[in-house]
Amino acid sequence: MPLTTPKAMFERAYKEGYAVGAFNVNNMEIIQGIMQAGAEEQAPLILQVSAGARKYAGQHYIVKLIEAGLLEADVPVVLHLDHGADFDICKACVDGGFTSVMIDGSHHSFEENVAVTKRVVEYAHDHGVWVEAELGRLAGVEEHVSSEHSIYTDPDQAVEFVERTGCDSLAIAIGTSHGAYKFKGEAKLDFDRLETIGNLLPGYPLVLHGASSVPQHFVEMCNKYGGQ
Ligand SMILES: [Zn+2]
Repeated sequence: MPLTTPKAMFERAYKEGYAVGAFNVNNMEIIQGIMQAGAEEQAPLILQVSAGARKYAGQHYIVKLIEAGLLEADVPVVLHLDHGADFDICKACVDGGFTSVMIDGSHHSFEENVAVTKRVVEYAHDHGVWVEAELGRLAGVEEHVSSEHSIYTDPDQAVEFVERTGCDSLAIAIGTSHGAYKFKGEAKLDFDRLETIGNLLPGYPLVLHGASSVPQHFVEMCNKYGGQ
């Protein structure tokens, strides 16, 4: 089957009440393993590529490896760019057949973030591609992006950001952390903030990055409040 768009995948997931796993891929073995497991479990997949993975394997190789996997595994797959740093990398992925891109302008000022996100949205939507954006900043290390402290997402700014940019989903910061960062004790997540943003943007997909080390009961609370 061909690559799927997040819109179709998420609509079905919301309706049938399940989550979709997003997995970072950078070589053939990882792609084979995840796609075989997805097919066995009949679980739709988001396969995401970071700038580092794209540089390591080459964009064309990654796309063709996933297309090869789709010839064998009968499972819906979204191909997503993780943390695109600027318009050019997002455009290259849209042109190269990705069905979803993330523009991460969270390290810019609010106005600059709006501007770059809007530019990516206009280009991507012209090509039928979904856009995830980010507002607020996570602590931890994600390739070249590192931040010692979180800057939690302001709920009113989140609404303004979505309205002005037209992005399809929004990664927000409520206390999860990226990558190698280890929690001292249990993660403290700002569920009030998540609930407020969820209420201000009803039915809108909110994304929580850096959730790998979040305990299961927190994941259930996040799902309740509308996080992904
Ligand atoms: Zn992330």
